[in-house]
Amino acid sequence: MKITEIKVSRKNSPLTRPLRISLGTITHSTSIVAEVMTDEGIWGIGEGAASAFVTGETMDGAQAALKMLEEALLGVDPTDLEKVHCIMDRTLAHAPVAKAAVDIACFDLLGKKAGMPVYRLLGGHEDHLETDMTIGIQEPEEMARLAKEHVGEGFRILKTKVGTGKEQDLKRIRLIREAVGKDIKIRLDANQAWTPKEAVHMLECLEEYQIELVEQPVPHYDIDGLEYVTRHSRIPVMSDESVFDSHDAFRLVQRHAVDYVNIKLMKCGGLWEAIRINAVCEAAGVECMLGCMAEETNIGATAAASLGAALKNITRADIDCQFSIADFPVQGGMRWGKGGLLSLPCEPGFGFL
Ligand code: MG
Repeated sequence: MKITEIKVSRKNSPLTRPLRISLGTITHSTSIVAEVMTDEGIWGIGEGAASAFVTGETMDGAQAALKMLEEALLGVDPTDLEKVHCIMDRTLAHAPVAKAAVDIACFDLLGKKAGMPVYRLLGGHEDHLETDMTIGIQEPEEMARLAKEHVGEGFRILKTKVGTGKEQDLKRIRLIREAVGKDIKIRLDANQAWTPKEAVHMLECLEEYQIELVEQPVPHYDIDGLEYVTRHSRIPVMSDESVFDSHDAFRLVQRHAVDYVNIKLMKCGGLWEAIRINAVCEAAGVECMLGCMAEETNIGATAAASLGAALKNITRADIDCQFSIADFPVQGGMRWGKGGLLSLPCEPGFGFL
């Protein structure tokens, strides 16, 4: 099988619920859908979602990158994943969003060619997983109201964005815990908002609210700071923006700088590298979460969920972007039921129609 063309289309649609985080506000799902066409008449669908705050990429940049990758990949067998990635990495440094789009489409093709769903090709540990639901930064009372609403919808795990000031953050978490009771898991995401000492102090103050973990308390480049927080906080620490690829993961787990790692396909350039990140973490005894960008659609979310279900060391999921999307670029893919239960399709590839 050979790649004959990579068709690219853009999707830019408003989120039903804009998401404010400590870095800024996300109002739209902005992604590029890539269709990798082959000489065998089958094609694969992938997606690259530009998350400017996190990956530093834009839609225009990712589209131009995809054009370069297409030229380099014409004639290559898309199911030779290592080869595809070697060519992409030689052609273009970084650019994980464009590479993720190609990678996801190639895995879709691999599944179609093999006649198997991707989650089974990746390991098949489970065929489903449970995601949390994210609550963006708003007034504390409104966040508590939303938390209660989500619990009413069946969600058992909430992820709360924080990082706009001590008093407000403490009030947020106090009101949310009061609103949902003690049996709901609450994880936090500070999106780099705190200094290491602020983080340790905040987490001390938050201990009484039974917090499962905190994501990225300090700036992404401050690995010493991350290690300091992990060492001094009783609440477990998860890296997000500090780990893009397996090299980042290795540096962190080698020095015990984190308790958990959040993997996102749009940071690492797709499933192929995500598998490696998980392997590095698993070898170090560090469990992973599979996350998504708020800008992604059901394409990226299905790919992420496929890996999250397939591997046992991926014990947590934050794949909730599909809940804020009004219209989907494709039908099919994973299904979601009450309370954040994501089920993978049994059709070949990712099951997109
Ligand atoms: Mg995060």
